[in-house]
Amino acid sequence: MMHKMADTGAQAAPQDAQMTKLGKEFLADLWRNQPEWAMYVGKYEGAAQLTIPDAADRARQLAFNERWLARFAKLDPAQLSPRERTDLAILQNQLKAANWELTKFKEYAWNPSNYNVAGAFDLLLNTEFAAKEVRLQKFLQRLQNVPAYYVAARASIDNPTLEHTELAIQQSAGAIQVLKEGNKQAQASKLSAAQKQQFASRTEAALKAVEEYVSWLRSVVARGEAKRSFRIGKEMYEEKFALQIQSGLTGEQIYQRALQAKEEMLARMDKITDELWPKYLANTAKPQDRVAKIGLMIDKLSEKHTTPDKFVEEVRQQLPILQKWLIDKNLLGQDASKPLEVRDTPEYERGFSVASIEAPGPYRPQDRTYYNVSPMTDMKPEQAESHLREYNHWILQILSIHEAIPGHYTQLVYANKSPSLIKTLFGNGTMIEGWAVYGERMMMESGYGDNAPEMWLMYSKWNLRAICNTILDYGIHVQNLSKEDAMRLMMRDAFQSEAEASGKWRRAQLSSVQLASYYSGYSAIMALREERRQQLGAKFDLKQFHEQFLSYGSAPVPMIRELMMASTSAAAAAPAAAHSGMMSKEMKEKHQKMHAKKGEEKKAEEGKKDEPAAKAHH
Ligand code: ZN
Ligand code: ZN
Repeated sequence: MMHKMADTGAQAAPQDAQMTKLGKEFLADLWRNQPEWAMYVGKYEGAAQLTIPDAADRARQLAFNERWLARFAKLDPAQLSPRERTDLAILQNQLKAANWELTKFKEYAWNPSNYNVAGAFDLLLNTEFAAKEVRLQKFLQRLQNVPAYYVAARASIDNPTLEHTELAIQQSAGAIQVLKEGNKQAQASKLSAAQKQQFASRTEAALKAVEEYVSWLRSVVARGEAKRSFRIGKEMYEEKFALQIQSGLTGEQIYQRALQAKEEMLARMDKITDELWPKYLANTAKPQDRVAKIGLMIDKLSEKHTTPDKFVEEVRQQLPILQKWLIDKNLLGQDASKPLEVRDTPEYERGFSVASIEAPGPYRPQDRTYYNVSPMTDMKPEQAESHLREYNHWILQILSIHEAIPGHYTQLVYANKSPSLIKTLFGNGTMIEGWAVYGERMMMESGYGDNAPEMWLMYSKWNLRAICNTILDYGIHVQNLSKEDAMRLMMRDAFQSEAEASGKWRRAQLSSVQLASYYSGYSAIMALREERRQQLGAKFDLKQFHEQFLSYGSAPVPMIRELMMASTSAAAAAPAAAHSGMMSKEMKEKHQKMHAKKGEEKKAEEGKKDEPAAKAHH
């Protein structure tokens, strides 16, 4: 049913078959050229060979991108059906963005945390794509290049930022852990005695390479050579925003909208607080100041929370409840055969987000999907209390709605079924985050949480956070926003705890543009839903809208909109068809603009930063 839907209205066009063939060839070539990225999507053919990240490798990537841009340029978008046309646009954007990264942004030179061998080794240990011994043998071969890998890393780094250098030092502990674990498993395995010996000596050399990299990074810091600003500046910001967000708006435009949305949200919270006041704070004087008043109510409600040792378990128990709600309220079908496993976040991935979904790539849909939750075990008591108040009774439910059901997990299950492999692989982060933020809204509108004002107030606080992510990201990278002002924005105007705000400040220093995706995507989806409702009138069905929206895979929202419009013209009444025809023309113009200047960032290999195709952080 779902697969059919995506194809509706998409009759084969003259160059469709050519595009399909070229797309397949491109992917095969890509996985040969990027074996690590291939592993993240579930292809292990090249897993034995660790790629050395040196200048020659970057030149090879650049040549690859140019070669494929030239081949794709021979296709005429007008000769493609909407589905193939958007696939083509996504790939062209992807290649342009990769070139921009290599020639202009050059993160390889200033972000030492780009260099960490842990991820791929961890996949070899923990993904059951082959027998244990087969995987260990690939691990053993892969170990050979670890020393050369870190030599190349040092040669590639030039004037890094202090923040990314410190992150690299921290995350190297994870590499050490995975390497030791590999050797431990090898020694207990059925490998031959000679191989075990080889495993031990190569592990020793690899550990030494990681340790030398860490001490070199420390010396760079000590000599004051990690002095590049973490702020990327207006030019880089707008260029990256256009390539990555792909909403048709500029960073500055979204920033202005977010400022306005923040005002509207505070006005709504003001009303709810007045409503709740007699129930919770009848004996407390109501402050004149709006933000102070809302803050007191949020503080009061935040007292209702779980304990550090029950934190992960509480999350685990919410999932079946959320799933049942979607079915009972007729909001979205859910594939019950795909299990979701809640686990402690692996150590090498910690330090970036409270929770994240880690899903198998489209080539291995049978693998487990993990819901990583950062355990609270190593937190100091006051830190833990602050964390628990932030992720209180209400917010913890919204977190699971966002990360799991109907948010990231549900969306990724749909994406892996999408008939477009290209859209599944080169997922648009704005659509992915936008959907998760929209999912929160959808649950609230359906009356989740007894439609209680408490739930609405906490939801509003959470939504305000997404809005402030945009304000913060633009402020920090473009407007030189100080730490003090950033902390005030989050803690005063958005009611965040100090722990949450410091974590976000750190994340905003380490990433750019990605924090703006939440609000950008959410507002685009809300606008599309309204447009669709207008168009279909009495025929509009919410569940059908959700399933159709998700059926196209993780494509940019403007492209999904175009596909949806094309699918209606056949079914809808005459006036609606005329309307949709008009929209299509408008989309065509937008599309030409996108072709001219936009792209899609390569993500899947960057699991530790931003938003990879098969993983999503909050
Ligand atoms: Zn408490
Ligand atoms: Zn998210």
